[in-house]
Amino acid sequence: MSTLEIKDLHVSVDTEDGAKEILKGVTLTIKGGETHAIMGPNGSGKSTLAYSIAGHPKYTVTAGTVTLDGEDVLAMSVDERARAGLFLAMQYPVEVPGVSVANFLRTAKTAIDGEAPKLRTWVKDVNTALEQLDLDASFSQRSVNEGFSGGEKKRHEIAQLELLDPTFAVLDETDSGLDIDALKTVSEGVNRFRAKEDRGVLLITHYTRILRYIQPDFVHVFVAGRIAEEGGPELAEQLEAEGYDKYTKVRA
Ligand code: ADP
Ligand code: MG
Ligand code: MG
Repeated sequence: MSTLEIKDLHVSVDTEDGAKEILKGVTLTIKGGETHAIMGPNGSGKSTLAYSIAGHPKYTVTAGTVTLDGEDVLAMSVDERARAGLFLAMQYPVEVPGVSVANFLRTAKTAIDGEAPKLRTWVKDVNTALEQLDLDASFSQRSVNEGFSGGEKKRHEIAQLELLDPTFAVLDETDSGLDIDALKTVSEGVNRFRAKEDRGVLLITHYTRILRYIQPDFVHVFVAGRIAEEGGPELAEQLEAEGYDKYTKVRA
C-alpha cells in the first residue's frame, strides 16, 4: 500500500518584508485507498500546504519531512515528484499560451511514464476523459488555461488527473467557482480516480459542499497553519452547521 507522509512540516513564504512562517507543524498521513479533506478558513495555509508538496519555489520548508513510500519528496524536483506519483491541481492554474491541451497532456504523460503513450489508445483515452467531464472534443485544441472559464479549468484539471493517473492527488479548491452541474461532473471524475486500487486524495476546500459528492474518509480542520481538529465525515457536517468560528475566535 502506498503512503504519503507529512511530518511536523514548517514552511515559510518569501515576502517583501522577509520570510514569514505559514505552516507551523503539520503532520498528516494519507494511505492508498483513503480520501482526506482539509478544511479551513481563508488564509489558514491550505494552499501553502499544497504548494509545498508540489515544490513551488516560493515556499521554503524550514523543518519537517514529506515522504512518499519512504522516499524524500522534498529532495525531489517538481518533475521527479510527478514521476513518483504525485499530482497537484492548483487553486490558480497557469496559462500556457500556444500549447494545446492535447499536446500538454501527451507531453505530461510521456514525461511521467518515461515513454510516449500508444497513439491509438491515447487518443481514445483523451476523448473519453474529455467526454466524461462534459468537455467538447474541440477542447483538446485550445491553449492550456487560456481564456478557460472557471469550470473549464477545473474540468481540465480532472481530465489531467484521470489521464496521468497518479498515486496521490492533491486537489486545491477544486470546487471553487463551480455551478452545481459542474461540481457533480468534477466530483464524479475524482470518484472514478479514487475507486481505483491504492489511490489517495487530499482534497482541500473551504466549503463543505463538495464533500456531499466526494465523501472523505477523514476530515482535518486547518487553522493558522496547523491541524486544529481531526475526525471522520461527521466533522464536515459539524463544520457545515457551525462554521469555523469556534476555532478562530480569540478568547478574552
Ligand atoms: P488558504 O489557502 O488557506 O486560503 P494560503 O496558503 O493561500 O491560505 O495563505 C496563508 C497565508 O500565507 C496568508 O496569510 C497569505 O497571505 C500568506 N501567503 C501565502 N502565499 C503567499 C505569498 N506567495 N506571498 C505572501 N504571502 C503569502
Ligand atoms: Mg477508496
Ligand atoms: Mg487557498
